[in-house]
Amino acid sequence: MDQKPLKISRSGLRLYKECPKCFWLEKHEGIYRPSGYPQALANAIDLLLKDEFDSYRKKGSSHPLLKKFNIQAKLFSDLEILKRWRDTRRGVQYFDEKLNALFFGAVDDVLEFPGGKLAVLDYKTTGSSQANIYDEYYDQMNIYTYLLSMEGYDTADKAYFAFFIADRLNGFEDRLPFKAEIHEVKVNISGIKELFEEAVQVAREDTPPEHSINCEFHAWHHRIKEF
Ligand code: SF4
Repeated sequence: MDQKPLKISRSGLRLYKECPKCFWLEKHEGIYRPSGYPQALANAIDLLLKDEFDSYRKKGSSHPLLKKFNIQAKLFSDLEILKRWRDTRRGVQYFDEKLNALFFGAVDDVLEFPGGKLAVLDYKTTGSSQANIYDEYYDQMNIYTYLLSMEGYDTADKAYFAFFIADRLNGFEDRLPFKAEIHEVKVNISGIKELFEEAVQVAREDTPPEHSINCEFHAWHHRIKEF
């Protein structure tokens, strides 16, 4: 039987890891989790950062932050390709013919080392006093690196976060200064292919997975049914 092509994004795979049932409802039934409010401030800063990094890219020079943290890589120079990789509807992608399924994710930026290896650069803004690298951030980098490798690029075994940490020590006065830091992390792409294959299989099952017994939403829903 012919199966419809399936599209799974990086955040879709995160949802699968978090709750296979919510993932199945989205992919199989088109029932999405309610969305929250857009993160307008973080999104605005993200756009400004892309413009800023692109201005150095167009001049063919390194960004001062990369120099300050002694990162021996240049900004990926092909802006047309990068625009495609940044497009949230397209991103870096890989189509698995056998599964008839597409896996994709949009990056912020990419670095290129001498010799040609690529590494993902992700911009993060935070109101915390320090840069916190959560497990989900590692997953994000592992997946982007995997997708770049599946597009046929040679990839480094590391990725970078450019953290912009809000300075909360000197009042507001209509300005929000940031302290900028680069953090290098190791990437590990093992297990991603298998997780993607598993998610595709679950999305195509006719019956949904069970609710997770550890899920707080499920426990909450169970309780409010009494009222
Ligand atoms: S209640 Fe919890 S386990 Fe059930 S579908 Fe929602 S998030 Fe998943």
